[in-house]
Amino acid sequence: MSTPSNEFAFELRVCRWAERHWPPDGERAGPVIVARQFGAAGRRWDTIVIECDPDELGERAAFGQERLDGDLLDVVRYAPAEWAYYREALPDPGYPWRYVRESIHRADDRGILETRRRGNRIEIRRRFSYPDWVERIVAIENKPDLDASAARALSDQLERDVAMGLADEVWIAIEADDDRVSAALFEDVPVEAGIVEVDSTALTADVAWYPRTLAVDRPGTRILERPDGGAHDASAAQFEYVEASEKRERRLEIAERAYERGWRSYVDTMRPDCRHFEGRTDGQLLPYCRAKGRQPTARECAGSCPAFEPEPPTWRTRGWPIEGGPGARIKQILADRRERRR
Ligand code: SF4
Repeated sequence: MSTPSNEFAFELRVCRWAERHWPPDGERAGPVIVARQFGAAGRRWDTIVIECDPDELGERAAFGQERLDGDLLDVVRYAPAEWAYYREALPDPGYPWRYVRESIHRADDRGILETRRRGNRIEIRRRFSYPDWVERIVAIENKPDLDASAARALSDQLERDVAMGLADEVWIAIEADDDRVSAALFEDVPVEAGIVEVDSTALTADVAWYPRTLAVDRPGTRILERPDGGAHDASAAQFEYVEASEKRERRLEIAERAYERGWRSYVDTMRPDCRHFEGRTDGQLLPYCRAKGRQPTARECAGSCPAFEPEPPTWRTRGWPIEGGPGARIKQILADRRERRR
């Protein structure tokens, strides 16, 4: 039976495996960006993999490490090569122009757009073309010890993912330690979802079931409510259509957030400044709590943890052993790795 702690450990290992070895079968075509605990369209995906075009990803760097949110994307993608009045250069946003002006100023402050005033008009000119850097988006649910009942519980979420078609592929990653991939499990998971068995120690993987590519360029269906399937439940499922253009926007926003965060950002919300926190290496630098005697989850190792104790001030003042205590070091190491991946 998996606990939140070993689910978290498995998730970090899956992220590491995906970063090194994605795709699970065949050659890697270009760089990938991996992110975890990713909320999108009312869902939280455990892991996402963004497959990128190498040249275009390089051009994305000109826009900085921070993500571009939907409003900034509306500006920088359409900014003209020559000076023009912003209302004539940009497509009608579908929301008041004053918000566009705010986005223009934000883009200017970030150095990714040029602006000037002509009378009482704001003119804009692009600094860089926004590249088409996202090839495919893959969502992975991590279930280290998936059994038939867990598969049934998961199937509702996966069916929603399949109906929406926001990701190109949806996978379940399970721990490759026995013969759990039984016929029962296949029956309970939508056929469109792939199943990959990940050996979280050796960081290898085998595909047990290949996913179907989802129609990301076509309108999707958002399932709002569905009957519970009980004997007396005759209600109809409720759903709404989602335009292909809206999906395109959402996908780009997802990719931008992944670009900013990566998967090592969990340390940003954990308490490496706690005296019980340390980084342990098991082929991969992972957080460890000495008070709990195990790896803490990102949720429990937070400001509300009752066992939190601040690290001794001497760890900070004596430059332990390089700068700050062990918590500061792990934070720095993970930040460096994040940066290098980018
Ligand atoms: S005691 Fe709490 S805050 Fe400190 S390392 Fe452990 S889980 Fe994190």
